[in-house]
Amino acid sequence: MAKFPWAERWPEIYDPRLRAAFARVPRGLFVPEPVRQWADRDAPLPIGEGQTISQPFIVAWMTQALALQPGDRTLEIGTGSGFQTAILCELTARSGETPGLHVYSVERFTTLSQQAMTVLNHLGYSPHLMVGDGAQGWPEAAPYAAIIVTAAAAHLPRPLWEQLAEGGRMVIPLGANAESQSLWLLTKHAGQLHAENLGDVRFVPLVSPILHDPANWVEWM
Ligand code: SAH
Repeated sequence: MAKFPWAERWPEIYDPRLRAAFARVPRGLFVPEPVRQWADRDAPLPIGEGQTISQPFIVAWMTQALALQPGDRTLEIGTGSGFQTAILCELTARSGETPGLHVYSVERFTTLSQQAMTVLNHLGYSPHLMVGDGAQGWPEAAPYAAIIVTAAAAHLPRPLWEQLAEGGRMVIPLGANAESQSLWLLTKHAGQLHAENLGDVRFVPLVSPILHDPANWVEWM
Protein backbone atom coordinates (compact mmCIF):
# COMPACT_ATOMS: atom_id res chain seq x y z
CA MET A 1 0.00 0.00 0.00
CA ALA A 2 1.42 3.35 -1.06
CA LYS A 3 2.31 5.95 1.55
CA PHE A 4 0.30 9.15 1.63
CA PRO A 5 2.03 11.48 -0.81
CA TRP A 6 0.78 14.62 0.91
CA ALA A 7 1.99 14.06 4.48
CA GLU A 8 5.38 15.46 3.47
CA ARG A 9 3.68 18.68 2.33
CA TRP A 10 2.25 19.60 5.72
CA PRO A 11 4.62 21.96 7.56
CA GLU A 12 1.93 22.40 10.27
CA ILE A 13 2.16 18.73 11.24
CA TYR A 14 5.40 18.55 13.20
CA ASP A 15 4.66 15.52 15.42
CA PRO A 16 6.82 12.67 14.04
CA ARG A 17 4.64 9.98 15.67
CA LEU A 18 1.60 11.40 13.89
CA ARG A 19 3.39 11.51 10.54
CA ALA A 20 4.46 7.90 11.04
CA ALA A 21 0.87 6.89 11.86
CA PHE A 22 -0.33 8.48 8.60
CA ALA A 23 2.25 6.53 6.65
CA ARG A 24 1.03 3.26 8.20
CA VAL A 25 -2.77 3.54 7.82
CA PRO A 26 -4.00 2.84 4.24
CA ARG A 27 -6.82 5.35 3.66
CA GLY A 28 -7.94 3.57 0.48
CA LEU A 29 -9.27 0.62 2.48
CA PHE A 30 -11.61 2.93 4.44
CA VAL A 31 -13.49 4.37 1.45
CA PRO A 32 -16.00 2.69 -0.91
CA GLU A 33 -14.65 1.08 -4.08
CA PRO A 34 -15.98 3.75 -6.53
CA VAL A 35 -13.99 6.56 -4.85
CA ARG A 36 -10.90 4.50 -3.93
CA GLN A 37 -8.96 5.94 -6.87
CA TRP A 38 -9.04 9.33 -5.10
CA ALA A 39 -8.08 8.05 -1.65
CA ASP A 40 -4.65 9.66 -1.70
CA ARG A 41 -6.05 13.12 -2.43
CA ASP A 42 -6.02 15.55 0.47
CA ALA A 43 -9.79 15.96 0.23
CA PRO A 44 -12.97 14.64 1.86
CA LEU A 45 -14.78 11.77 0.09
CA PRO A 46 -18.32 10.28 0.34
CA ILE A 47 -18.58 7.10 2.46
CA GLY A 48 -22.35 6.39 2.23
CA GLU A 49 -25.37 7.41 4.36
CA GLY A 50 -24.74 11.00 3.18
CA GLN A 51 -21.57 11.14 5.31
CA THR A 52 -17.96 11.90 4.40
CA ILE A 53 -14.48 10.80 5.42
CA SER A 54 -12.68 13.96 6.52
CA GLN A 55 -9.88 15.60 4.59
CA PRO A 56 -6.60 13.99 5.78
CA PHE A 57 -5.04 17.31 6.76
CA ILE A 58 -7.99 18.04 9.07
CA VAL A 59 -7.65 14.58 10.66
CA ALA A 60 -3.96 15.30 11.26
CA TRP A 61 -4.60 18.83 12.54
CA MET A 62 -7.26 17.67 15.03
CA THR A 63 -5.22 14.70 16.20
CA GLN A 64 -2.07 16.76 16.73
CA ALA A 65 -4.04 19.13 18.98
CA LEU A 66 -4.97 16.18 21.22
CA ALA A 67 -1.25 15.57 21.97
CA LEU A 68 -1.93 11.86 22.52
CA GLN A 69 0.42 9.69 24.55
CA PRO A 70 0.45 5.88 24.63
CA GLY A 71 -2.18 4.71 27.11
CA ASP A 72 -4.39 7.83 26.84
CA ARG A 73 -8.02 6.77 27.01
CA THR A 74 -9.62 8.42 23.97
CA LEU A 75 -13.25 8.91 22.90
CA GLU A 76 -14.19 9.64 19.29
CA ILE A 77 -17.68 10.82 18.29
CA GLY A 78 -18.51 9.96 14.65
CA THR A 79 -16.66 6.76 13.70
CA GLY A 80 -17.69 7.18 10.04
CA SER A 81 -15.20 5.28 7.88
CA GLY A 82 -12.96 4.39 10.83
CA PHE A 83 -9.89 6.10 9.34
CA GLN A 84 -9.55 8.61 12.18
CA THR A 85 -10.15 5.73 14.61
CA ALA A 86 -7.15 3.86 13.16
CA ILE A 87 -4.92 6.91 13.64
CA LEU A 88 -6.09 7.13 17.28
CA CYS A 89 -5.30 3.40 17.74
CA GLU A 90 -1.77 3.95 16.43
CA LEU A 91 -1.04 6.88 18.76
CA THR A 92 -2.52 5.46 21.97
CA ALA A 93 -1.08 1.93 21.78
CA ARG A 94 1.63 1.01 24.26
CA SER A 95 4.31 -1.27 22.84
CA GLY A 96 3.24 -4.90 22.90
CA GLU A 97 -0.44 -4.03 23.28
CA THR A 98 -3.17 -4.59 20.69
CA PRO A 99 -3.78 -1.14 19.19
CA GLY A 100 -7.26 0.09 20.09
CA LEU A 101 -7.36 -1.00 23.73
CA HIS A 102 -7.68 2.65 24.84
CA VAL A 103 -9.91 3.88 21.99
CA TYR A 104 -13.72 4.25 22.20
CA SER A 105 -15.75 5.44 19.22
CA VAL A 106 -19.49 6.10 18.76
CA GLU A 107 -21.38 6.24 15.42
CA ARG A 108 -25.10 6.75 14.77
CA PHE A 109 -25.29 4.61 11.60
CA THR A 110 -25.04 0.83 12.19
CA THR A 111 -23.90 0.27 8.58
CA LEU A 112 -20.93 2.64 8.90
CA SER A 113 -19.93 1.26 12.30
CA GLN A 114 -19.97 -2.33 11.00
CA GLN A 115 -17.97 -1.47 7.88
CA ALA A 116 -15.46 0.44 9.99
CA MET A 117 -15.05 -2.49 12.39
CA THR A 118 -14.45 -4.92 9.51
CA VAL A 119 -11.62 -2.81 8.06
CA LEU A 120 -10.13 -1.95 11.45
CA ASN A 121 -10.02 -5.60 12.55
CA HIS A 122 -8.56 -6.62 9.18
CA LEU A 123 -5.70 -4.16 9.80
CA GLY A 124 -5.14 -5.44 13.34
CA TYR A 125 -6.89 -2.66 15.30
CA SER A 126 -9.35 -3.54 18.08
CA PRO A 127 -11.02 -0.32 19.26
CA HIS A 128 -14.28 -0.35 21.21
CA LEU A 129 -17.07 0.68 18.81
CA MET A 130 -20.69 1.47 19.74
CA VAL A 131 -23.76 2.49 17.76
CA GLY A 132 -25.66 5.29 19.46
CA ASP A 133 -25.94 9.01 20.07
CA GLY A 134 -22.42 10.30 20.57
CA ALA A 135 -23.65 13.52 22.18
CA GLN A 136 -24.28 11.30 25.22
CA GLY A 137 -20.64 10.19 25.16
CA TRP A 138 -19.76 6.74 26.49
CA PRO A 139 -20.19 7.18 30.27
CA GLU A 140 -19.26 3.60 31.23
CA ALA A 141 -15.63 4.11 30.15
CA ALA A 142 -15.24 7.75 31.32
CA PRO A 143 -13.22 9.78 32.12
CA TYR A 144 -11.25 10.32 28.91
CA ALA A 145 -7.85 11.95 28.57
CA ALA A 146 -8.88 13.00 25.05
CA ILE A 147 -12.18 13.47 23.21
CA ILE A 148 -12.44 14.13 19.47
CA VAL A 149 -15.75 15.05 17.84
CA THR A 150 -15.84 14.70 14.04
CA ALA A 151 -19.32 16.20 13.45
CA ALA A 152 -20.38 19.76 14.21
CA ALA A 153 -22.87 20.91 16.85
CA ALA A 154 -24.28 24.35 17.64
CA HIS A 155 -23.53 23.80 21.33
CA LEU A 156 -20.99 21.92 23.42
CA PRO A 157 -22.76 18.74 24.64
CA ARG A 158 -22.67 18.68 28.45
CA PRO A 159 -22.15 14.88 28.71
CA LEU A 160 -18.92 15.14 26.69
CA TRP A 161 -17.57 17.93 28.89
CA GLU A 162 -18.44 15.94 32.02
CA GLN A 163 -16.69 12.82 30.67
CA LEU A 164 -13.44 14.71 29.99
CA ALA A 165 -10.79 13.94 32.62
CA GLU A 166 -9.09 16.64 34.67
CA GLY A 167 -6.19 17.83 32.48
CA GLY A 168 -7.96 16.35 29.45
CA ARG A 169 -8.19 17.77 25.92
CA MET A 170 -11.19 17.92 23.60
CA VAL A 171 -11.23 18.90 19.91
CA ILE A 172 -14.69 19.79 18.59
CA PRO A 173 -16.15 21.76 15.67
CA LEU A 174 -18.84 24.16 16.89
CA GLY A 175 -21.13 26.45 14.92
CA ALA A 176 -24.79 27.15 14.22
CA ASN A 177 -24.53 26.17 10.53
CA ALA A 178 -22.13 24.72 7.95
CA GLU A 179 -20.93 28.19 6.90
CA SER A 180 -19.86 29.28 10.36
CA GLN A 181 -18.03 26.47 12.13
CA SER A 182 -14.83 26.82 14.10
CA LEU A 183 -12.64 24.05 15.41
CA TRP A 184 -11.97 24.39 19.16
CA LEU A 185 -9.41 22.88 21.48
CA LEU A 186 -11.01 22.77 24.93
CA THR A 187 -8.97 21.83 28.00
CA LYS A 188 -10.04 21.20 31.59
CA HIS A 189 -7.89 22.54 34.42
CA ALA A 190 -9.24 22.59 37.99
CA GLY A 191 -12.66 21.96 36.43
CA GLN A 192 -12.41 25.17 34.38
CA LEU A 193 -12.79 25.34 30.60
CA HIS A 194 -9.99 26.89 28.54
CA ALA A 195 -10.57 27.36 24.81
CA GLU A 196 -8.34 27.87 21.80
CA ASN A 197 -9.72 28.50 18.29
CA LEU A 198 -7.97 26.26 15.73
CA GLY A 199 -9.60 27.82 12.67
CA ASP A 200 -12.60 27.56 10.34
CA VAL A 201 -13.84 24.12 9.28
CA ARG A 202 -16.82 22.44 7.61
CA PHE A 203 -18.21 19.21 9.07
CA VAL A 204 -21.43 17.22 8.70
CA PRO A 205 -23.88 17.91 11.57
CA LEU A 206 -23.83 16.12 14.92
CA VAL A 207 -27.41 14.83 14.92
CA SER A 208 -28.75 14.43 18.45
CA PRO A 209 -32.19 14.85 20.03
CA ILE A 210 -30.65 15.67 23.41
CA LEU A 211 -29.17 18.88 21.98
CA HIS A 212 -32.66 20.37 21.58
CA ASP A 213 -32.68 20.82 25.37
CA PRO A 214 -30.51 23.72 26.62
CA ALA A 215 -29.99 21.78 29.87
CA ASN A 216 -27.63 19.56 27.85
CA TRP A 217 -25.42 22.46 26.68
CA VAL A 218 -22.36 23.95 28.33
CA GLU A 219 -22.52 27.68 27.62
CA TRP A 220 -19.03 29.10 27.56
CA MET A 221 -18.57 31.35 24.47
N1 SAH B 1 -14.04 10.41 11.63
C1 SAH B 1 -14.84 10.09 10.46
C2 SAH B 1 -15.70 11.27 10.10
C3 SAH B 1 -17.00 10.86 9.57
S1 SAH B 1 -18.15 12.21 9.32
C4 SAH B 1 -13.97 9.67 9.28
O1 SAH B 1 -12.85 10.14 9.16
O2 SAH B 1 -14.44 8.88 8.47
C5 SAH B 1 -18.96 12.31 10.87
C6 SAH B 1 -19.68 11.10 11.37
O3 SAH B 1 -20.41 11.48 12.53
C7 SAH B 1 -20.70 10.53 10.40
O4 SAH B 1 -20.41 9.18 10.16
C8 SAH B 1 -22.04 10.69 11.14
O5 SAH B 1 -22.94 9.63 10.89
C9 SAH B 1 -21.59 10.72 12.60
N2 SAH B 1 -22.53 11.32 13.52
C10 SAH B 1 -23.31 12.42 13.37
N3 SAH B 1 -24.03 12.65 14.49
C11 SAH B 1 -23.71 11.67 15.38
C12 SAH B 1 -24.12 11.36 16.71
N4 SAH B 1 -25.00 12.10 17.39
N5 SAH B 1 -23.57 10.28 17.31
C13 SAH B 1 -22.67 9.51 16.66
N6 SAH B 1 -22.23 9.75 15.41
C14 SAH B 1 -22.76 10.83 14.77
